Formats: sequence, C-alpha cells, structure tokens
Amino acid sequence: MKITIVGAAGGEVTGSAYYVQAKHASILIDCGLFQGGKKAEALNRPPTAPKQRLDAVLLTHGHLDHTGRLPLLAQRGHRPKVFATPATIDMTALILRDSARIQAGDAERQNRKRARAGQPPIEPLYSPQYAEEIIQCLQPVPYGKPVRVAEGIEARFVQAGHMLGSASIQLSVHEDGREKKVVFSGDLGPKGSVILHNFDPIQSADLVFLESTYGDHDHRQFLKTVEEFVGIVKDSVARKGKIIIPTFAVGRAQMLTVLMSWIFRKKHLKPFPVFLDSPMAIEATKLYYKHFLNNPDLFDERLLSYIRQKPIRADLKTLKATATAEQSKQINDCPGPCLVMAGAGMCNAGRILHHLKANLWRPETHVIIVGYQAHGSLGRQLVEGEKVVSIHGEKIAVKAKVHTLGGFSAHAGQTDLLAWFSGLAAANPRVVLTHGEDGPRESLAKLISQKYRLKAIMPKMQETIVV
Ligand code: ZN
Repeated sequence: MKITIVGAAGGEVTGSAYYVQAKHASILIDCGLFQGGKKAEALNRPPTAPKQRLDAVLLTHGHLDHTGRLPLLAQRGHRPKVFATPATIDMTALILRDSARIQAGDAERQNRKRARAGQPPIEPLYSPQYAEEIIQCLQPVPYGKPVRVAEGIEARFVQAGHMLGSASIQLSVHEDGREKKVVFSGDLGPKGSVILHNFDPIQSADLVFLESTYGDHDHRQFLKTVEEFVGIVKDSVARKGKIIIPTFAVGRAQMLTVLMSWIFRKKHLKPFPVFLDSPMAIEATKLYYKHFLNNPDLFDERLLSYIRQKPIRADLKTLKATATAEQSKQINDCPGPCLVMAGAGMCNAGRILHHLKANLWRPETHVIIVGYQAHGSLGRQLVEGEKVVSIHGEKIAVKAKVHTLGGFSAHAGQTDLLAWFSGLAAANPRVVLTHGEDGPRESLAKLISQKYRLKAIMPKMQETIVV
C-alpha cells in the first residue's frame, strides 16, 4: 500500500489529508481545508487527481482543517461513503454548510470589487450545493468496533479527546494474505480536559501518523490557566473593559461558556453580559447539548456531575446568543465589563474582526487567545505582539492587552502526545510526524528517538510512504 500526504505536512498545520492506495481500494483519511493566509489557501485543490480512484473517506473529526475540502470531491463528481462518528457527522454538516456560505460570500465581495475594476468574476471555491451533496454521503460508525470501509480495509475509530466526536483511526489493510495496521492520531486532545472524555490508548501499528502541533512544549496546567483566566476577567471588570475572545465555534466556545457559568456559580464575580456572537457557535452548543443527553460517554465525568447539580443556563442569565448581524452590531453599544466570543478563531474573517477593530485600540480591552493561530493570520500577529495591525484595510493600534492561554488549547501538549504514543511504541512502528510547524516536529522527533529509539520522519507535502 502507498500513503501520500496531501495536507498538513512540510511544516504546514492545516489541510489535513492522507490518500491511502491499497491493492483493492483507495481511501482518504480527512480532507481538510488549508487556512491562515493567501499562500496556504492557494493550496485548496481536491486532494486526489481527476481520474484517481476513491472508494471512501474517513474523518477523524469535524474541524474545517480536516473536512473543508470534502465539497471539492463532490464538485469533481466523487460520491464516496464518508465514515465518521455520529457527533462528527453533526459537526461536519454544520461546519461545511458554514464554509460554503463563507466561500460564496467571499467570492461575491471580491466580484463586486472586480466588476468595478473591469475584471472578470471569479467562482467561489465551492458552492453550498456541493457541501450538501457530500453531507449526504456521511455514514455513522461507532467508537471501538472495527468497521469494513472498503474492500480489504477495516477501520476502528478510537476516542481522541480533541473535540466532540473526535477519533484516532486504526486501519487494518489486507493485501496478499497479509495484514498491515496503520494508525492516524488525528488531532489529540489534552489529558485532564474537564469537558471531554480523554483519548483512549491504541496498542498495535506498523505505521503511525502522529500530530505534532504542540510537539515542543507542554501547556500550562488547565486549572492554573483557569486561575489566570479568572484574574484577567476580574481585572477587566475592575477597569470596565471588554474581553474579546476569538473562538473556533466548536469546542472552545462551549468550554468558555461552562467556565463563565462556574465563575458566576462560585461567586468569583457578579454576573455581567457574556455574548456568544456566532450563529455557528450557537448551533454547535445545541449539538453539544444533544450529545450530552444521548451520548454522555463522550464527556468528562466532572462535567456530567457539574451539569447534573444545576443546569448551566441557571448561572448564565446574562448570556446572550447573538445570531443576527444586527444583534452583533449592538454589542458595540454595550459598555464594559462584558465578554465577547466570536469567530473566526484565527481572526482571519468573521465578526471577530469588527470587535477587534472597535476595541483593540482601547487600553482597557483584554484579548484572550485560546486556540492555535496559523502563520499569516491576524491572530498570529496579535500573539507576536504587533503594535499596529490592518483590519478591513484600516490601520488599528494595538493598545489592548493580549493574553495567550495555551492551557485552554484543544490540542495535547508534548507530554500528552508522548503518553498517547507510548501505548504504540512497544509495537516498534514506523513513525511519521505531521500537522506541526518544523520546530515542534523536530522537538518531538528528538524525544521519540531518545525515549523509544525510533526514528520519526518528517515528510513534505505530496510525499508518499510505501508500507
Ligand atoms: Zn482539530
């Protein structure tokens, strides 16, 4: 079998996709969108060549950088079965519909400019129709049980603790009377998350693809990060400032909502307005609740008992879910203190840009970064301490305090990545590090070599590994 890495390699973190060509079938693991700037986004083409065979797609989780190129497959005429856990199916449908809407909106905006400049119009990357067509191809798989996904290929989906429904995938590929096992970590969550069930171990593999987003360091402990967060919120309340948090709609937004409920329940602060300013985060929260009722196994025991004690809604009477653009604009008129969660998570688009534009220049504002920020994104510029940034073509001074709270990350830090890998190390697998910038990948490769005497390879994009 041959596995070609068609995303999230060569130091690139987004665009996850692997094309597995076995004797009897060819499948993709993930089909993610490249994000973070023009250079990365220019890579957004279908991950397979036009005439290449594609029997199935397997999704590790719903995030756009793992699913966002799926509609391109439909656009090319492919209708493969797309296997994912039930929660990932819900999340993927939500995320792809939103992505198609954004692509169409972006193209429309650009075309207005192009028309004024006398240039021909451009097509969106894909239309909502292709998102719908591929959503129809989604097929649920349970956790833990091997499922036949194509001729000669079985897959087992294992808890990854990264987002609702996330999984690592263990493939068993049968060729010429032999079986080979290949494991794809997908994105792994941190151990000790109070929201989701932790990742489960996997024992056997001939080849492992391991993510390395934070392969070079550990995050601050979650509970220490909560303390820091409470400190920032208290300061902000004292200064009557706004707290602006760029959040991916799925995952961090729900975690922060729980946290604000806890702050108010424990009376650390009197309730003040909290805005969930993202139609998609509002929808995602409903899905979290649906799975909370139907699949409590997906969640951490501490969250289950916290919510059973008292519903989160009871603490959050001041939470406003602002679905419409008009409601979102009104947040500008709300005096501080208030907390605003809005997308996009890397500040490269969406409502967060309006909030940053209106508040970055105010010294009483706090901006809290809680997720990964790719090179080239506005979020990365803020993390790196830029004093002036450009938003919608306007120069904005950064007088706000910018905090990076790595301890709220949905990604495992170095120790947790190694803990996940330690279950597999005894099987002496070949190790391939992907989904990380070069520094973190190199650090993790060094540690794997020291600890387990295994050489980890760090492929470039389009590299093929023969198994
Ligand atoms: Zn992810």
